[in-house]
Amino acid sequence: MEDYEIVIGLEVHVELLTKTKMFCSCLTEFGAPPNTHVCPVCTGMPGVLPVINKRAVELALKTAIVFNSEISRFCRFARKNYFYPDLPKNYQISQYEEPLAKGGYLEIDGKRIRFKRIHLEEDAGKLLHSETGFISFVDFNRSGIPLLEMVTEPDIGSPEEAEKFLEKLKQILEYLEISDCNMEEGSLRCDANISVRKKGTKELGVKTEVKNMNSFKSVRKALAYESKRQIEILKRGEKIVQETRLWNEKEEITESMRTKEEAHDYRYFPEPDLVPLEINDGWIEEIRKEIKEMPDERKERFKKDYGISDYDANVLISHKGIADYFEECVKLYNNPKVIANWIMSEILAQIKGKVLKKEEIPLKPEYLVDILKLIEENKITVNTGKEILKEVYNTGLSPCEIVEKKNLLQIQDIELIGKFVEEVIRENEKAINDWKKGKQEVISFLVGQVMRKTKGRANPNIVRNILIEYLKSLK
Ligand SMILES: [Zn+2]
Repeated sequence: MEDYEIVIGLEVHVELLTKTKMFCSCLTEFGAPPNTHVCPVCTGMPGVLPVINKRAVELALKTAIVFNSEISRFCRFARKNYFYPDLPKNYQISQYEEPLAKGGYLEIDGKRIRFKRIHLEEDAGKLLHSETGFISFVDFNRSGIPLLEMVTEPDIGSPEEAEKFLEKLKQILEYLEISDCNMEEGSLRCDANISVRKKGTKELGVKTEVKNMNSFKSVRKALAYESKRQIEILKRGEKIVQETRLWNEKEEITESMRTKEEAHDYRYFPEPDLVPLEINDGWIEEIRKEIKEMPDERKERFKKDYGISDYDANVLISHKGIADYFEECVKLYNNPKVIANWIMSEILAQIKGKVLKKEEIPLKPEYLVDILKLIEENKITVNTGKEILKEVYNTGLSPCEIVEKKNLLQIQDIELIGKFVEEVIRENEKAINDWKKGKQEVISFLVGQVMRKTKGRANPNIVRNILIEYLKSLK
């Protein structure tokens, strides 16, 4: 393995966050009943004419600007001809010889991964197959949704690097608010070209294309499998077949789908129904102004303004929604470090890696702040706070409502705690004897017993102090 070098290029498709489709005014909303967002244009009826969605072009421009790509001042759409049941026109409107932008790069760990091109196209419909496999349905809601295709140069050197690249790319696109980048809903998709070669060789090896990867993790796994497979073939002295392979998630292998001989000839030609796209400097400048703070800038600002560590800042800015949420909380309660800890340990655990916008996080910033204040005022314990957080998250009730409903306020009454301490001492004769013999760790055990009796509501520090006083009096 060590004598070989892996060469990877990625092709990423993202659905753009426009209200309407690429060439008609149908809505792009996800999850609507099948075939409810359709019209003669996106179902390919004869005689209709497409119109370019200006906003889609602007979102593509935003992306090209951020990656320092060279934007074409004049470009055209092209017809990519092929037959498939999810493509009613029998061609897809895409860009071929004249993409919207060329070049540019994304830096990961100081290494530049270059883009070959960034272009606009339209999505196809979606086929749904019945369980028996005998009937197929087609949903054209997705047909005509604007897609941005980003193709990298073969600059990626390992499956891990591919995963990192995708994570960073997704983060930036989220910050640009051009796509929700949800791989599960298909708004971000990725195919990869991969080849291997002996170290020191200049020529690229024969590549395969890997498709059907549904998460960044499966991209990494598929590429690891495929590079190993290719290296083994070369080691046996055999040749790699140029082909498209599908990632089989269940078996964790790639399988041959079609070889080059069966590859499509798309017979591209300029789209005659659309005028060429002219992009002037004024328009680019206007779009540039729309670009707000990017993740790396935000990270530096967080460190500087809130005094949080590099690691914490990195976690918080990883998703725009989380970073927005953090700042909203800090506005309400000026204790950034505590808020950062709670978000990183409790909120992220609840969200379970899902990408959410600030408004979509089920625990409102005010509610998190309410919990933190209750703890600060010694009204509840930290553990109770964590329980309340889970409950607010699941029920949507406010922390105060939950505290009241469940009678969760912390017990600070010394007399009341004293009663519990007495009980515990009575019930744990053996432990008391151990303590008398000098076993100090018994104290923690006894504190734990009192906490159990009070269902975690007693203030542990008060419990400890009272307990020690009590024990001393027993000597
Ligand atoms: Zn339509």
